[in-house]
Amino acid sequence: MSCVITNIGQLVTFDPADPDRPIRTDAALVIDEGLVPWVGDAANAPAADTRIDADGAAVIPGFVDSHSHLVFAGDRVAEFEARMTGRPYTAGGIRTTVAATRAASDDDLRARLAHLVAQSRAQGTTTLEIKSGYGLSLADEERALRLAREVTDETTFLGAHVVPAEFAHDRGAYVDLVCGDMLAACAPHARWVDVFIDSGAFTVDEARRILTAGRDAGLGLRVHAGQLEADGGVALAVELDAASVDHCTHLTDADIAALAESARGGAGTVATLLPLVEFSTKQPYLDARRLLDAGVAIAIASDCNPGSNYSSSVPLAVALAVRELGMTPLEALAAATRGGARALRRTDVGHLGVGARGDAVILDAPDYRYLAYRPGVPLVRTVVVGGVDIAHLRQAR
Ligand SMILES: [Zn+2]
Repeated sequence: MSCVITNIGQLVTFDPADPDRPIRTDAALVIDEGLVPWVGDAANAPAADTRIDADGAAVIPGFVDSHSHLVFAGDRVAEFEARMTGRPYTAGGIRTTVAATRAASDDDLRARLAHLVAQSRAQGTTTLEIKSGYGLSLADEERALRLAREVTDETTFLGAHVVPAEFAHDRGAYVDLVCGDMLAACAPHARWVDVFIDSGAFTVDEARRILTAGRDAGLGLRVHAGQLEADGGVALAVELDAASVDHCTHLTDADIAALAESARGGAGTVATLLPLVEFSTKQPYLDARRLLDAGVAIAIASDCNPGSNYSSSVPLAVALAVRELGMTPLEALAAATRGGARALRRTDVGHLGVGARGDAVILDAPDYRYLAYRPGVPLVRTVVVGGVDIAHLRQAR
């Protein structure tokens, strides 16, 4: 079944085969059997089985949200309120969510996850990474990944989120469990392994053990580092060729140089920035220009989670990247699409060149820059996944 999207006012392709022309006007896009076989001038568009009229709107690649924590129960809205009135964010609140998640049934967790994924989709996310990390026991981590795998292939084992309370006096035994039996149970449901490096979570040495064990089990590597301080996690991520090091709010000059060097070959370690976390924790934003000017590869993701940020809005993250991180609208959109794909080591998503998956978003706007220009406004009109209009979100205008 083929589909042609016509009457596109502005088509952002980020086509890797045409890097000097990320944006086309008067363009059409064909999607067939889930992939893009043709993109070009509307006047030359081939026929297709169905047609979507973009009505002069901008069309962009679907967002690639490469960082989320959506398998959990309960909420932490009271903690959020306290933080807004002066209490700082610490990693310890994660244990509150662990208790609620362990107590929840499979059906409850599955229903909550489906609801959160639907919200994410409705905001334009067509590729979504989901982490475990609120189980922190062998059975609960395995369950979280099994449920996440029902909705995405991009699943990440985060048994090393924090040390659970029952191991507070023997953290070494918990690291042994994560590297051993827990990893063995979780690896069949995961593509990635991740560690939260933080003074309230895991040290660089513990992270090295866990990531190495994950790599030996066949998983790709991701790292949470630099959220609250420059903690040595970036150097570890680059050393181990992690696909992504996420947060990066606090970086040394050496960290930036290492990330830039790693990006030079084309793959390397992507710095995934999570500005919604700074927004929701009242932490200072980083200056993304330092990274961009040095040549660091950047992604922007939501980090939707019940503690440090409960927004799944990639459009809002893009707006913050422009408003607070010093990125241009085009850089921010690229980071939320192609950058996210690179952070997941994917070449089939995050762009709309020939051969890409047919995942596109028709905006309720004539220009992609409206994503930053009109923050908080529901600008995602239609979400197309594999050529199928799945969201039916056409707004009355
Ligand atoms: Zn996270």
